[in-house]
Amino acid sequence: MPIQNTASEIDALEEKIFKKIRDYIPGKKLQKFKEAYEFSKNAHGTQIRRSGDPYLIHPLRTAEILADLRADEDTLVAGLLHDVVEDTTTPLPEIENLFGGTVSYLVDGVTKLSKMRYRERMEQRQIESLKKLFIHSARDLRVILIKLADRLDNMRTLSFIANDKKRKRIAKETIEIYVPIANLLGIGELHAELEDLCFSHLHPDEYKQLKQTIEENVEQRGFILDEMMQITQKELKINKIDAEISGRHKSLYSLYKKLQTKQTILNIDDITAIRVALPLRQDCYYVLGIIHRLFKPKIGRFKDYIAVPKPNGYQSLHTTVFGLDGSIVEFQIRTRYMHLEAEYGIAAHYFYKYSGNKEISALIQQRSNWIQRILEMQKDQNGSSSDFLENLKLDVFQDRIFVFSPKGEVFDLPVGASCIDFAYAVHSDIGSHASKAEINGTRFPVTATLGNGDTVNIITDKNYWPDLEWLNCAKTSLALHKIREFLKHASLGKKLESGRKHLEKEFSHIGRKMESELTSKRIKLIAEKLQRENLDEILTTIAEGDLHPKIILEIIYGQKEPGAETTSQTNRHLRKIDLKITGNNSSNQFAEITRTMNGLRVPVEKFAVDKPWHSNHHRCLLTVLIKDYSELSQVFESLEQLAFITSIKRRAGNKFLIILLILAAISVLVISWLTGYLKLLNTLL
Ligand code: MN
Repeated sequence: MPIQNTASEIDALEEKIFKKIRDYIPGKKLQKFKEAYEFSKNAHGTQIRRSGDPYLIHPLRTAEILADLRADEDTLVAGLLHDVVEDTTTPLPEIENLFGGTVSYLVDGVTKLSKMRYRERMEQRQIESLKKLFIHSARDLRVILIKLADRLDNMRTLSFIANDKKRKRIAKETIEIYVPIANLLGIGELHAELEDLCFSHLHPDEYKQLKQTIEENVEQRGFILDEMMQITQKELKINKIDAEISGRHKSLYSLYKKLQTKQTILNIDDITAIRVALPLRQDCYYVLGIIHRLFKPKIGRFKDYIAVPKPNGYQSLHTTVFGLDGSIVEFQIRTRYMHLEAEYGIAAHYFYKYSGNKEISALIQQRSNWIQRILEMQKDQNGSSSDFLENLKLDVFQDRIFVFSPKGEVFDLPVGASCIDFAYAVHSDIGSHASKAEINGTRFPVTATLGNGDTVNIITDKNYWPDLEWLNCAKTSLALHKIREFLKHASLGKKLESGRKHLEKEFSHIGRKMESELTSKRIKLIAEKLQRENLDEILTTIAEGDLHPKIILEIIYGQKEPGAETTSQTNRHLRKIDLKITGNNSSNQFAEITRTMNGLRVPVEKFAVDKPWHSNHHRCLLTVLIKDYSELSQVFESLEQLAFITSIKRRAGNKFLIILLILAAISVLVISWLTGYLKLLNTLL
C-alpha cells in the first residue's frame, strides 16, 4: 500500500528543502521560492500521483534533487513549476508575470523536452536525435538539470506503475537517453542512481542477485577497509596532510556490465574503493607515493586521470594495491574540487559560485561557459571515444533545428529546412505527396521554413506531386535526392510543360516576355554554351532540376559582379563563417545587419551586397569572425529577428579541404602499408 502523504507532511518536506537551500544560499530571502511553492500547490490542487500521493510532492522532490545539486533560486523555482504548464491550465505568460523571464524560459524548455516521445525498438538514428535534442537545450544547462531531476524522481517512484510493459519502456528510455546525458555532464551521483534504478526494473533477477552478493562481500571486507582507512589516515596525519578518507561501493549496474566481460566477481578489484580527497593537485601525487609505501601496488593498475581526464571530464588517480589479509583494494585520490566535479559534474561549474569558496569560484570563473566545456571535453577525448561524443562533435553544434511530429517524434534537420525536408524525413511517400502543412496548428504551404521546436503535421494528397520549386526550399540531401528522382521520371510532355512554365516565370521577373526574348539566335547561343541540342532539351534539363532558369537569363543579358566592401579585421583565434543572407527590399536593411553585428560585438570581415537586377530580393554575403558555436547561434537568432530577412544560410566553405585531408590520410596509409610490405620483401630476399 502506498503511503499517503498528508498536507502537513508535504509542508514539512518543503520546510526541509528550504533549510537545505538556506545552507548554500545564505542571506537571501528566497521569497520567490516560497511563492512558487504556494503557486504550484494551488495549480496542482487535488491532482494525485500513481503512488496515491498528492501531485505536489513530485515537483517538491524535483526541487529537492536540484537543491542537492546546489541549484540557483530560478532553477529551484522552475523545478517547482515544471509540470504546471503541461498538466494544469496555467498559461506560460502567467508564469512569466509572476516569476520572471528566466523561470518561464526554463519551464518552457522543460515542457518542450517532455513533448518528445520515446518508443521501444526505436531506430538508433532516432535515439541519437533525442539525445541531441537534449544537448541542444544546453543553451541553458538548467533545463537539462531540471529534466534529469524530474526523471530521477519519476524513476524512484516507478514501481507504482502497475503495467509491466510501461514500466520497462520508461526504464529503457531512461537508460538510453537520460543516463548517457547525466554521464556526459559528469553528474556521477545522479548518473549512478538513475542507472541502478533502470537496472532494477530492466533485469530484476540479476539486480537482486548482484545486490545480495555485494552486501555479503561488503560484510566480509568491511572491517579490512576500515582498518586500511585508519592506517592511511594516520600516516597522512604524520605527514601533515589534510585529507578526507571515505569508502564507496561501485554502482551495481557498472558492476553488472563489468561482470559480462570478466567471468567472476572475484576478479573485480574495485567493488569497494577507498577515496582520498585532498586540497591541492600536487598533494595527490605525494599521497600516491605514501599509499604505495604502505601497500604494495598491483602492476599495471595505476591510472592517471588527472593528467589525462576521462571524456566527461572526470579526474582522479586510481591505483589498485594489495591490502590487508590478501585483499585487493582500489584507491581513488583527487582534490576536493575534482571530487565535487565527479559528484555534480557540470552543475559544479554552474552553481558552486554560491559556495563562497574562493578557490572554487576562481575555477568557475575560468570555465563558466558550459558549451565551451563540452567542446573542451571533446578535445580531451584522446582516442577512447564513444559514438555519442563522436556524433555530437559532427552534428550537434552545427546549425540544427529540432522539429516534432504530432505524435511527438523528434527529427533533427538543418537550419533553414522546410516542411518538405520534414515530410521526406518522416517517410518518402509523405514527402512525395505532401500538399499542405500545419505548423503549430496553423496552415502553411509545404515550402514554409521550419523553426526550432515546431510541431509539424503534413497533409498528403494522392494527386499532389513534387514540384520543381521544391528544390529551392529543400535543404536535406534526402529530400533533394528524392525530388530530383521524381522530376527525372516524369513524362517528356510534363517535363517540357514544366520547364517552359518556369523559364517564362523567370523572364516575367524582369518584366519581359519569353516568346519575344527567346529568339532562335539566342536559343542557338544558349544551346551551344550549355552543350544541349535544342530548346526542348534545355527545357527538359530545367524541369529535371539540373538547370536554373536564371542561368539562361544570365547567358542572354550577362552577369553583374557583386560589389564588395571589406573591413580590416584579423584575428587568428576566431573562425571565419560565411553567411548567405536573402532579404526583401527595404531602405536601410544593410545598415540594420551591420548594427546587429556591432551589437553582438561580432567582427565583420566582409560584407558583400549583391542585388540581381532581375530579382526582387537583395542578397548579401556576410563574413563574420566567430568565437564559438554559441556565438554563431546568437548571430542566427538576431538576424532572424530582422523582419526583412527571408533566409540565412551558412555557406559550406571547407568541404574541399576535408576531401583533401581524407585523401592525404588515405595516401599516408597506403604508403606506410607499402613500406611495410617492401621491408618484408627485403627480409625475405
Ligand atoms: Mn514532472
